[in-house]
Amino acid sequence: MRRLLVAGNWKMNATVAMTEHLLTTIRNAAIDTCDVAVFPPFPYLALAQSVIGDAKIALGAQTCSFEQNGAFTGEVAVSMLAEFQVAMVLVGHSERRSLYGETDNIVLLKTLRVLEQGMTAVVCIGETLEERQAAKEREVVEAQLQLLLDELSDEQWQSIVLAYEPVWAIGTGETATPEQAQAMHHYIRGLLFRRNADIANTTQILYGGSVKAANAAELFSQPDIDGGLVGGASLDANEFLGICRVQ
Ligand code: PEP
Repeated sequence: MRRLLVAGNWKMNATVAMTEHLLTTIRNAAIDTCDVAVFPPFPYLALAQSVIGDAKIALGAQTCSFEQNGAFTGEVAVSMLAEFQVAMVLVGHSERRSLYGETDNIVLLKTLRVLEQGMTAVVCIGETLEERQAAKEREVVEAQLQLLLDELSDEQWQSIVLAYEPVWAIGTGETATPEQAQAMHHYIRGLLFRRNADIANTTQILYGGSVKAANAAELFSQPDIDGGLVGGASLDANEFLGICRVQ
């Protein structure tokens, strides 16, 4: 049985006050209906770690370097994240792919670094509007997954969470319909199934793209949707908790 995971990607939005408020509110809500994860920007990880304390909230980072350490100005190594109890790292978010040139090969290298540190990689995949309009969404998503399917061992797959995020639904207020999302999640699970039935049955596949409290229940009730990667709505504690509370 796959657990529901609700993960908040704060993107480049945070202040000390906001981090304290959001995480204190989420911690005090003591959510037990789903697993909860938050992905603050790097400078707030230490503060986030201390506010979370021993609460059951996984701390995540929004990206990482694929290098181990050394002369890579501005980069952050996964081993550094480990010192702040980071348990998950987002890899291949569409903003990283489109704005910072994160290719499928880079996604693989980063994923391997994350797994080496014993963390979970939340790997994001999804098509653009043009690709969907050209009916290429399955092809695109399959190509984004191919290297991971080829290169990761069955054991490594145990530490992968996938996030299907159609780019046209991210930050636009336009959500994929539950049917559109379920169809793609089912397709993705089928690709995993071709690799190994156990991986297909156990890998969590999150949906991301304008998830909010008002649409989460219908999305999360789809058989192949195992929770959400939430951007904008994760910056409002009540909205985020509303998403966490749907079952
Ligand atoms: C995201 O950035 O991963 C995301 C899904 O954003 P939003 O919820 O704002 O669409």
